[in-house]
Amino acid sequence: MPAYINVCKDTLSDQFIDNAWVPSKSKTRRPVLDPYQETHIAEVTYGDPADVDAAVSAARRALPGWQATPEARRGEYLEAIAAGLETRRQALAELSSRNNGKPLAEAYQDLDDAIACYRHYAQAAVALGQRQGTVEDADQPDLEARHYWDAIGVVGLITPWNFPLVSSAWKLAPALAAGCTVVFKPSEITPLPERALAEIVIEAGLPPGVFNLLQGDGEGIGAPLSRHPGIDKLSFTGSNPVGEAVMRAAAQGVRPVSLELGGKSPILVTEDADLALARDLVIAGICYNAGQMCSATSRLLVHERLADELYAAIDAAMAELRLGDPLTAGTDMGPLVSATQRDRVQGYVALAEEQGLGSETLTHALPEQGFFVAPRLYREVPTTSRLWQEEIFGPVLCARRVADDAEAIALANDSDFGLAATVVAGDPDRAEAIARRLEAGNVWCNSDQIAPPQGSWGGMKRSGIGRELGDAGLDAYLELKRITRPLRA
Ligand code: NAD
Repeated sequence: MPAYINVCKDTLSDQFIDNAWVPSKSKTRRPVLDPYQETHIAEVTYGDPADVDAAVSAARRALPGWQATPEARRGEYLEAIAAGLETRRQALAELSSRNNGKPLAEAYQDLDDAIACYRHYAQAAVALGQRQGTVEDADQPDLEARHYWDAIGVVGLITPWNFPLVSSAWKLAPALAAGCTVVFKPSEITPLPERALAEIVIEAGLPPGVFNLLQGDGEGIGAPLSRHPGIDKLSFTGSNPVGEAVMRAAAQGVRPVSLELGGKSPILVTEDADLALARDLVIAGICYNAGQMCSATSRLLVHERLADELYAAIDAAMAELRLGDPLTAGTDMGPLVSATQRDRVQGYVALAEEQGLGSETLTHALPEQGFFVAPRLYREVPTTSRLWQEEIFGPVLCARRVADDAEAIALANDSDFGLAATVVAGDPDRAEAIARRLEAGNVWCNSDQIAPPQGSWGGMKRSGIGRELGDAGLDAYLELKRITRPLRA
């Protein structure tokens, strides 16, 4: 077994409950894949509803003590988790790259984002303690009112495979800062990096039951966790059909949900845009993580005066991307995460061929092993095509030329999704004016897709409910309480 697997010493253990790896009630074991070598790199147990019961019970037992822990102390625990990740930065980046297929440089970025997120919420916990009891105007001569923020309770956190350790940090850090105890279910496709959190949590000294991790699939763990009456709130990141199932389950008992779902985000390029900048942002928006990003800007809307030049520049840049071993320096794009994901994306490529759509990018000889799909640009894709409308989740870019900003904005907004968008324009004020008219939770103007922990993340329309990161990300795990009483003497 390669050295980087050693980071999760308990690969053969089962579920992490009450600060210990315990045997699962289920005996179903499944392999975990390396999508580049197409080999099994570990085996994990897929838990079942009895494991969910045990983890939720542990989290409930731990809740009163964790809620009563001063916010600043909770912040110290979060800082210790950040330090634990930092100590293992190299090993975890390599493991994540191997398990997910993303180039090592991207895995390092993930690690740094996760560490920054825990650090941010360590500070946010301190600030939360300072604002408890803020006096509000009671609007009565002899009364005063104060605001307090209480933890929602036991939360169920479910994440996908495309940004291991990051999607989980965006949930775990604010939930723990708020005083919630958690039952966390990572994706069964990339469980390995997340398993290290168990070791880190023990090292950080978190009380037993505050953090519980369950391994398994949607049927064995995800669905039973979503409908468990001991869960007070669900936060889910993943696909739309599963998000809807989680929301339906949460309706039982009127439990709140946060949903971070799919996207089909646009990138708009005006006629005065810098061509090289536009090309680079287009490429990053569709080829980073091999296009497996909820915020992938997969619909290009370019002014007709710049269209041919930009298409040619994109084709040339795509052709130059180095596809290969994600752990080799210089690799720009790794394989897709699984054979299933590759086949899904290839299905859209076949559909494009059926629909007679042209792509001139295909100069790539694919590596002999690995679940690769070559990056492609399809020009003038009809808006009625499934390629234009559906989330492909791979390096497949659909483009259309437009006559002016109004047409670009109308087409950009003509989507069920509303997660993100990029605007590239010569004049930043014009870019911002366009951004204001886009239906998207995050819009980057002449900028890479940055998502700092003090910012905000989330979608409009069918891309989700609620926001992660920043103050909104913490509020998602808090209940606001107002106490009114006679004025203090
Ligand atoms: P998925 O919905 O298949 O799985 C996500 C998680 O849900 C996994 O842990 C899975 O085991 C679990 N799950 C499956 N069935 C379940 C059920 N019935 N009940 C509860 N949980 C269940 O998604 P995926 O394939 O892992 O990830 C890709 C999707 O995630 C894409 O649609 C992408 O857009 C979305 N995504 C969104 C964001 C965002 O911030 N909006 C970020 C990353 C990914």
